Amino acid sequence: MKIVNPATEEVIAEVEMADAAEVDRAVERAVRAFPAWRAVAPGDRARLLRRFARLVEEHAEELARLEITGAGHTAGNARWEAGNVRDVLDFYAGAPERDHGRQIPVAGGVDVTFAEPLGVVGIIVPWNFPMVIMTWGVAPALAAGNTVIVKPAEWTPLTALRLAELALEAGLPEGVLQVVPGEGEVAGARLVEHPDVRKIVFTGSTEVGKLIAAKAAEQVKRVTLELGGKSANIVFADSDLEKAAASAPMAVFDNSGQDCCARSRILVERSVHDDFLARLTEAVREVKVGDPNDPASQMGPLISAEHRERVASFVTEADVYARGSCPTGPGYWFPPTVLAGSSSESFRRAFTEEIFGPVVAVVPFEDEADAVRIANDTAYGLSGSIWTRDVGRALRVARAVEAGNLSVNSHSSVRYWTPFGGFKQSGLGRELGPDALSAFTETKNVFISTE
Ligand code: NAD
Repeated sequence: MKIVNPATEEVIAEVEMADAAEVDRAVERAVRAFPAWRAVAPGDRARLLRRFARLVEEHAEELARLEITGAGHTAGNARWEAGNVRDVLDFYAGAPERDHGRQIPVAGGVDVTFAEPLGVVGIIVPWNFPMVIMTWGVAPALAAGNTVIVKPAEWTPLTALRLAELALEAGLPEGVLQVVPGEGEVAGARLVEHPDVRKIVFTGSTEVGKLIAAKAAEQVKRVTLELGGKSANIVFADSDLEKAAASAPMAVFDNSGQDCCARSRILVERSVHDDFLARLTEAVREVKVGDPNDPASQMGPLISAEHRERVASFVTEADVYARGSCPTGPGYWFPPTVLAGSSSESFRRAFTEEIFGPVVAVVPFEDEADAVRIANDTAYGLSGSIWTRDVGRALRVARAVEAGNLSVNSHSSVRYWTPFGGFKQSGLGRELGPDALSAFTETKNVFISTE
C-alpha cells in the first residue's frame, strides 16, 4: 500500500498489507503470549504501561509528524493527539492494581468475583484519528491482561506501526501488542472470523459495523462498536449567540470534518436564525485552511481523492449559503461549506447522512420540543451541543437528546477519564472513562464453602 501525504499527494511510505495467513500467525503469537501476560503482577503490568507512556512522550513530536504527513492532520491537532496517547496510557497504567472484583455476602461460605481478561482482542481502527482511537482500545485491553492485535486503516498505518515498536522498546513482551496493516475485507475480516480472537473493538462506519456485529454474533464474540454520527448543535435564542456562532465552525470543521462527533447539523431557534447565520458566515470565512505544518492552519486536507469526491457529492450549488476558502493545486482540499435556506432533496440528504467532511447544514426550529424532535430524527446518536443560558432547559434538552456525549455551551465531548460512545446506530458499549476495563474482562463468580 502506498501511503500518500494528503496535503501534497506525495508517496511517503510503502507498507506491506497482511493477508489472512499473516493474521492467523499474529493470532497464534497473541494466544501464546497471553498466559504469561495475564500472569504479570498488576504492579509490573502498570510499570510497563507507564514506561510505554514515557516513550510515547519522548517520541511525541515524531508521532505527531507521522500523523501530519500520513493523515493530513494540522500540527496543533497532531501534537494534541500524541499527548492524548500518552495520557490514555498513563491513565490505564493506574488500572491493573484497581481491577478488583467484589465479595458478596452468602450463607455457608464466601462469594467473590474476579475480573478475568478475555484473551486475544482485535482492534480495528479507522483513518480519521489513527493513533488516538487505537490507544483508546489498546490501553485498557492491555491493562486488563489481554493480548492485542491492531488492524489500522489502509491509508494510515504509520503511527500504529511506530507505537508497536515503542511498546516493545518499553519492555512489553513479544506478541502482547501487534499491529497488522491490511485491507478491511481481508485482514480485518479474518480477525473478526478467527475463533481465537475473543473480542473485536471496531471504530468505523455504521455500515461496516453492522457487518462485523453480524459476523461476531456467530461466535457470540464480544464487540464494542464506535460508529458514525450526525450530531446536532442546538442554539437557543437566549444563548450567548456570539460565542455559539464563533465556536460552531470548528465544532464541525476540525480535522476537516472527518470526526465522528462533528456537529454537522446546526439547529437554530427561528427568532435568531438569520442573525446566527450572518455571524456563522463571518466565522466560517475566517477559518484558516492550509498547510498542516503551518501552526496557523486550523484545517488541513481531506484524507484522499476518493473521499473528497464522496464529500463533494453532498454539495449542490443551490444549497450553499456560505463558503470559506482553501488552497488550490496538489492536495485533497475542500473548503468549509455551509448549507442553509433550502428544502431541496439534496439539502435533505446532506442534513441526514454522515458526510465526514467540512460541510454543515443549518435549519431553524420553533421551540424546545421541535429542537429535540429534529435532533432525534436520525438513526445516529453520538454527540451534540446545547447553547442556552437557561440551566433547566440545558438539562432537560441534554436528557432528551438521544446521544451518548453532550456538552452545554461548549463542544467538548472527549476526555479520556469520562465515558465515550454512541446511542442507537452510533455504537454499542463505551470506551474511555473509569469503567473501560469492564469491556475487556469477564466477570467470574466463585463460591467457596466454609462448611
Ligand atoms: P470504515 O468502516 O470504512 O473502516 C474502518 C476500519 O474497518 C478500517 O480499518 C477498515 O479497513 C476496516 N474494515 C473495512 N471493512 C471491513 C470488514 N468487512 N471487516 C473488518 N474490517 C473492515 O470507516 P472509515 O472510513 O475508516 O472511518 C470513517 C467512519 O468511522 C465514519 O463513519 C466515522 O463516523 C466513524 N468513526 C466513529 C468513531 C466513534 O468513536 N464513534 C470514531 C471515529 C470514526
